[in-house]
Amino acid sequence: MKLFNTLSEKKEELTPGPSGKFTMYFCGPTVYSYAHIGNFRTYLLQDVLVRTLEADGYNPCVARNITDVDDKTIGRSVRSNVSLKNFTEKWTRIFHRDCDALNIKSPNFEPRAAEHINEQIDMVKTLIDKGFAYAAHDGSVYFKISAFDGYGALSNLRERTLKTQELDSAGKKNLADEYDRDSVSDFALWKSAKAADGENFWPSPWGNGRPGWHIECSAMAKKYLGETIDLHSGGVDLKFPHHENEIAQSECANGKRFSRYWMHINHLLVGGAKMSKSLGNLYTLSDILAKGYSAQCLRYALIAAHYSQQLNFTFNNLEAAKNATGRLRNFFNKISNGAPVQRFAIAEWEFFGDAFAALLDDINTPACLGSIFKVINESTVEALDGMQKSKLAGEFSTLMYCLGLQLDDAEASIEIPEKIQKVAADRWNAKQSKNFQEADLLRRQLLDSGWVINDTKDNYSIEKM
Ligand code: AMP
Ligand code: ZN
Repeated sequence: MKLFNTLSEKKEELTPGPSGKFTMYFCGPTVYSYAHIGNFRTYLLQDVLVRTLEADGYNPCVARNITDVDDKTIGRSVRSNVSLKNFTEKWTRIFHRDCDALNIKSPNFEPRAAEHINEQIDMVKTLIDKGFAYAAHDGSVYFKISAFDGYGALSNLRERTLKTQELDSAGKKNLADEYDRDSVSDFALWKSAKAADGENFWPSPWGNGRPGWHIECSAMAKKYLGETIDLHSGGVDLKFPHHENEIAQSECANGKRFSRYWMHINHLLVGGAKMSKSLGNLYTLSDILAKGYSAQCLRYALIAAHYSQQLNFTFNNLEAAKNATGRLRNFFNKISNGAPVQRFAIAEWEFFGDAFAALLDDINTPACLGSIFKVINESTVEALDGMQKSKLAGEFSTLMYCLGLQLDDAEASIEIPEKIQKVAADRWNAKQSKNFQEADLLRRQLLDSGWVINDTKDNYSIEKM
């Protein structure tokens, strides 16, 4: 497989490390609210990468963390008067539910930052011992960026900018988890406890406090995947400062290269602006389901464009995706006739070689889908003999695995629990009596339990997510 390596800025042959596996670390969600569909674009394209490597005969080993200690999780949990653990547990559960609905494979490891405080403290200690970090008088610890020559290599920061800025543009030490290029400066590895943190602090050699955001990924990648990993990935917004800081921490602490390849997924936009929680222009999976589109349809819409390009989200994309997945399903039904299909035993591609080659060429999903539809449009299935038909079905099924599209109609016969039927009826009645706030609340409650309501003019139906 070939992949564009953000570090070298070149498309390179992707080869596994000495273990023969592909060790990969994906920066996971910050669990303080719903993940939005922009976040899911990133996780979905990473999922297509993992699946394609599997179909190509490799054995990827993935760690994707849960960020449950940072400015946002602590701030929100303190404000809502819920313990950090209970608060982040709720959002982690909802994240898992959405990943399942979108058919995103679970990672081999899913470490949580709050459960790895010791590992983070150990790494900070090593950085101080080696002269790459220092403790300030208030008990916070900072990484000294001028001590690491390689700082800025991933995001092309100019050396001049770096050397002159020990402090950020406001003349302060940088304590924020997230900041932009104008504020490049020594960044916090450990933050001393503040009143606003409530009870969320841990003892350390520098006093009570908590880790900065960046150190968790360095410490957990090392613990689960080793000092050098094969590939690291996240959305483009993580290149700076998060990934730059991860490289600095890991390479200085371990004395080894951190990651051989870097893959960055470009943003999902709405009306030309980045979809983000802070801009408030976001859609969640539940919002999409509530509009009557399936999770599969959303999956298709989000993977259909190349990961290196921005994608502007519209409901027209979803309509097109609905149509496309319908055509794929019809084709699958026609070639499989409901019989089980063997996949993954493809020594030589006969029908869909171009489509698979497109995935091997920098995960070119639009080219892959284009090739698939070309074959679908041109092939006369009736003319094929039994052997050829089953080969065609096997190849098609392997590609659907890589793209993570499930074409069997398993949902049809799901039983709806009585409790859910009752809430749905209450919601319908609330809506009929124009009590929209109550109706909305009940709809959310159903979504959180994994059920979607589709309204028609006179009635409604209940569907499993
Ligand atoms: P967060 O939960 O904010 O840490 O983000 C989780 C992942 O989603 C990270 O890899 C981000 O880079 C990525 N991400 C955030 N916003 C977008 C977006 N609009 N489009 C695609 N990926 C995004
Ligand atoms: Zn990270």
